[in-house]
Amino acid sequence: MSLFADVALPVPLDRAFTYSVTPGAEPVVGGRVLVSFGGQQLSGVVVALHDVRPAPEVEVKAIARVLDESALLSDELMQLGKWIAQYYCAPLGDVLRGMLPLTAEVRRQWVYRIGEQGRRVLYEGAAKGSSRRSKLSVEDQNREYAVLNYLEAAEAVKTGTIRSATGANKALLDAMAKKRWLVREPLAEVRDARRVEMVAVLQEAGDSEQETEKSEDPTAGKRLPKLNENQLAVMAELAGCGGRELVRELRARLGARGVPDSSLATLVKRGLVRLEETAQAFHVSGLGHGGKKFAHEHALNEAQTEALGTLVAAMEKGGFRPHLLYGITGSGKTAVYVAAMQRALAAGKSALLLVPEIGLTPGIAAQMVAAFAGEVALLHSQLTPDERAEQWHRIRRGEARVVVGTRSAVFAPMPDLGLILVDEEHDGSYKQEETPRYHGRDVAVMRAKLLGCTVVLGSATPSLESWNNAERGRYVRVEMRERVQSRPLPAVEMIDMREEFRETGQEQMFSRRLIAETQATLDRGEQAIILLNRRGYSFVVMCRSCGEKIECENCAISLTYHKPGNEQDLNGEARVGQRLECHYCGFRRGVPKACPKCASEHLYYLGAGSQQGEERLQELFPGARIGRMDRDTVRTRGDMERLLTRLHSGEINLLVGTQMIAKGHDIHGVTLVGVVGADFALGLPDFRAAERVFQLITQVSGRAGRGELPGKVLVQTYQPDHYVNKFAREHDYTGFAAREMYFRRGMRYPPFSVLANVMVQSERLEEVLDWSSRLGRWFEQRKLVGVRVLGPAAAPLSRLKRIYRYHFVLKADRRDVLGPALREMLGVVDREEIPRRSIVVDVDAMHLM
Ligand code: ADP
Ligand code: ZN
Ligand code: ZN
Repeated sequence: MSLFADVALPVPLDRAFTYSVTPGAEPVVGGRVLVSFGGQQLSGVVVALHDVRPAPEVEVKAIARVLDESALLSDELMQLGKWIAQYYCAPLGDVLRGMLPLTAEVRRQWVYRIGEQGRRVLYEGAAKGSSRRSKLSVEDQNREYAVLNYLEAAEAVKTGTIRSATGANKALLDAMAKKRWLVREPLAEVRDARRVEMVAVLQEAGDSEQETEKSEDPTAGKRLPKLNENQLAVMAELAGCGGRELVRELRARLGARGVPDSSLATLVKRGLVRLEETAQAFHVSGLGHGGKKFAHEHALNEAQTEALGTLVAAMEKGGFRPHLLYGITGSGKTAVYVAAMQRALAAGKSALLLVPEIGLTPGIAAQMVAAFAGEVALLHSQLTPDERAEQWHRIRRGEARVVVGTRSAVFAPMPDLGLILVDEEHDGSYKQEETPRYHGRDVAVMRAKLLGCTVVLGSATPSLESWNNAERGRYVRVEMRERVQSRPLPAVEMIDMREEFRETGQEQMFSRRLIAETQATLDRGEQAIILLNRRGYSFVVMCRSCGEKIECENCAISLTYHKPGNEQDLNGEARVGQRLECHYCGFRRGVPKACPKCASEHLYYLGAGSQQGEERLQELFPGARIGRMDRDTVRTRGDMERLLTRLHSGEINLLVGTQMIAKGHDIHGVTLVGVVGADFALGLPDFRAAERVFQLITQVSGRAGRGELPGKVLVQTYQPDHYVNKFAREHDYTGFAAREMYFRRGMRYPPFSVLANVMVQSERLEEVLDWSSRLGRWFEQRKLVGVRVLGPAAAPLSRLKRIYRYHFVLKADRRDVLGPALREMLGVVDREEIPRRSIVVDVDAMHLM
């Protein structure tokens, strides 16, 4: 038995802490323990067991409780965690905690022990009888003695156990603890998190008709039994969401319309609706693919077959083999993923698919469930902690050999992992924007390296980092340069908005050309989507007299004007009234009549968001069936699914929205895509601005012409000659990448350097100024070799959520210089007694805002 355990705790310190092991309760490396730390009980992960006694002056406490008898984190995942801690300069305890989605399992529970005072009372009480002056009832006094009696012979005991033994409730126990007769302590309890839910499934009309024919009295006719209005409403609602819906969701929506729960029950009795049990969080509706074939139902075409061949050969060879699958929009990447995963499974391995945000592309989850059924586990951000834990255990037991999930699914505890796929690898949501600030794609590559397995990064617009890795031969490049069935890419046309202004003499949201083309598309019975990448009505409210913009109270950010509408707030409640809202912190205020600064009444509203877009489109195309897709209309996965169903069915023929509409949706009726105001972002002070705009235009363009009919894209721009627009027009990712690499190389930006953004933050400006100038002086004196330090400077977003922000940008030629420099700096931070949580180190920062 080892005498000591080193435990990584979720505290902002770069070290593990040593605790002594209690004989008979030995922990395991990779398992959790409960320890006391700074007066708190914390759960941490054991990183090492040993017999090395710490220095005598160090007080070594005993482990309070061993939570896991076997390792939750395998050697491989422990190694991955250590790599992340090192690479991203993050405390190991924070990293490991993020890898274990089991916080829900550790629930606060109280245990009670008898205290010194209690023993005395017990003894004296036994000698003299109970005190007549007590305010308690005789029963309660008796209970108190029963508790003391019971606990005298016992150790720490949980509330429930004491209650069944003595009849004392928690209030009585707490009152006794207050008198110090008892000592109360928290106990972390591991509980089982498994739950199921009911799903209502609409029965095929044919099926139920036959059943009716068979079972009913033949003289009663062959028709369905007559349904009342409420029952019809249930049927319609269910049909409207693809024939499957959680009973809970269905009841909520129908209940809101006054339909009683009994209507559903009646339909079930009549066999028109069937109820199925499903593991909670595992529900995938039949939506998102609009009746088209699923990816796995297609025979692969030549390019897909060739791509699959390369991947399968790599898997068969074994070893670490990173691949970049560059496949244009509509080239059929999903079918290749599915086929590769099938091969992995056939070889006895498991496969992991990472996606940016499942909620935004429910289609992908539906495809995976269609192909792999019960083998699939889904891990995404909308799971409750219980649901996440349940999926996690299923995966760990090897019951789900296919895992589909967002960023943190990269830590899925899969046995025999043989293939890791990262879809839309360029997507910014793979980067975690809180400690540990890891990039899911890069961690995926590292995990594949540690395991020695194949990893595939897929995209139509690869990140420049990945493209560069492919150029240098570090990744195998696999290309699919044609759309399936030789469908053409849409023609992309630039509309010069400066010229439009000259000719019309008016600043308009939509150009004449976009309006005419939209009308023509709708007239032909086809669908159009228009990207307006800001939500709300107007994103700047400005005073004409003094030029002041109305800003958030907590952030250095203009407030966005929202008109009253059919929007919902975060609690799903309809919002009423117009308002100004901060899109960073959620701050809201009423709309002022006059400028808060100079009292002028000449306020004007600038910058059209999606809400205004929708309103304007309604005026322009009164006959159109318009839908809007943005954070105000899509709060949950269910909202997204409903919207997509209406699109697939053609119920919506004109969609306006933010970048959500550019995600991998595969809607075959869309033949026109309009892009409005996307080049605004070219002006942002961020070296990835051009890359992001190129990705956005290319991805949203990729939504056009995916069905039988060819598509067209109209991009409204004030900078038609900008290289982003030129390459986007030609669908020339390779040309764009070459041009952008030229800029990055010249400016020593990634991928030609490694970069970290170091943010200094505090609610008090003077602290931020003091700390950043102290660090600035240290950098100046230290003269780090091979590291360029820019700053300190106010961050472009100089205040967010009441926190002032200054930053440094560190650029280094090599990673083995940057890491040590950052760690040395953190040492200085500790020495200077700057609170560690005030210094945010973002290695490979996605943006410098
Ligand atoms: P990508 O992700 O590359 O943009 P998808 O995987 O969404 O493309 O596929 C685009 C469409 O092509 C989907 O509707 C898909 O079902 C279909 N598809 C995939 N492979 C084939 C094939 N071999 N033949 C015909 N259609 C295909
Ligand atoms: Zn003013
Ligand atoms: Zn704010």
